[in-house]
Amino acid sequence: MTTLKYLLPEDRIPTTWCNVLPDLPSPVPPLLHPGTREPVTGEDLAPLFPAEVIAQELGTAREVDIPGAVLDVYRQWRPSPLVRARRLERSLDTPARLYFKYEGVSPTGSHKPNTAVPQAYYNRRAGVRRLVTETGAGQWGSSLALACSYFGLDCEVFMVRVSYDQKPYRRGLMETFGASVHPSPSPRTAAGRAALAADPEATGSLGLAISEAVEAVATGDGTAKYALGSVLNHVLLHQTVIGQEARLQFQLADDRPDIVIGAAGGGSNFGGLLLPFLREHPALGGRGPAVRAIAVEPASCPSLTRGRYEYDFGDSAGLTPLALMHTLGHDFVPPGIHAGGLRYHGMSPVISHLRELGLVEARAVPQTACFEAGVRFARSEGIVPAPESCHAVRVALDEALACRESGEAKTIVFSLSGHAHFDMQAYMDYFAGTLTD
Ligand SMILES: *Cc1c(COP(=O)(O)O)cnc(C)c1O
Repeated sequence: MTTLKYLLPEDRIPTTWCNVLPDLPSPVPPLLHPGTREPVTGEDLAPLFPAEVIAQELGTAREVDIPGAVLDVYRQWRPSPLVRARRLERSLDTPARLYFKYEGVSPTGSHKPNTAVPQAYYNRRAGVRRLVTETGAGQWGSSLALACSYFGLDCEVFMVRVSYDQKPYRRGLMETFGASVHPSPSPRTAAGRAALAADPEATGSLGLAISEAVEAVATGDGTAKYALGSVLNHVLLHQTVIGQEARLQFQLADDRPDIVIGAAGGGSNFGGLLLPFLREHPALGGRGPAVRAIAVEPASCPSLTRGRYEYDFGDSAGLTPLALMHTLGHDFVPPGIHAGGLRYHGMSPVISHLRELGLVEARAVPQTACFEAGVRFARSEGIVPAPESCHAVRVALDEALACRESGEAKTIVFSLSGHAHFDMQAYMDYFAGTLTD
């Protein structure tokens, strides 16, 4: 069986990121200042982010140029492949055409460098010396560490304790790129000390690690800024490089997706794949077709399916702006599932808004069903999906199996956001039967 892999030459990497927000039927509600509860201004965000990032966060331009220095780095692994999973289709005996866009070809093995690289670049240009961040499973921390090493910035990472213990090689990777890594909660910040006082064995959460990183920047010497790997508008903007490439690759394949699927932690890989396709949706003034979009989340951290749609903080201590989003509450501490990148209490305001508009569906799936799908995918396609990506694989399989029942030959594309080479303990636990839902 021939592999159908749709590759683009380097000179077809998109030179702009695309912003669909101006075309939505109603605007995405703004972030609010945590003190005044008024919409945030650029000035409010200036202690955290450099001016160009703030302009993108608040901006309304439909296209934003990708700087040449960022394209130079993207070319190390982009364009990423779009692959038709024909062995998997055959094993499922489905008439569906199943494609995946594979972001695991980046140096750190996920889509995260697509935004880490421009964020480090803009900070460098603004004269910032050090970036501080949080990380769950370590994908974001290692990607920012990589980008900081390219642009000559120091990098400090607060890593959620449960992942710090579960995934020691991710920490090794961050240190290889020159970052310093603290387990979170840590004694370095007031937020961390309070959490440790309440429970010395605290496993931590992304919300708490964000509080620590923001506090470290706010109380520092002014030469550091903060970087966030998901949720915010500028992060989704940077990730649209994924979907724009995929659109070109579908032209090569002479096909177009009926269904777009992605795992959603904060919503950035899903949004990055989806938003360029959504431009064609009639609800956004496009000529169609109306693509179906499914965000997949863990049953144990179900913000989109079970959370409330309300203004909430991005972090547990309440230091960040408030976002209108689907949220489980900023003090929610999710169970220590292996998909650390999906253990976040909230969801991107853009994805939340699209869900409210009925343009995005959401599904929650239990952990073991995801690993079952991941193993099945690995045995057909030879790539071991990251625990987060297994969530997308699960629903892609379910949709392909639904096509077997209905006899419909739908075209399904999902985001294979990363590989699991640093997460093999998760698979070993699954095989040993020690993973629970
Ligand atoms: C971080 C991560 C996710 C979840 O984050 P999003 O912002 O929702 O994309 C998904 N998959 C992988 C491999 C990740 O590293």
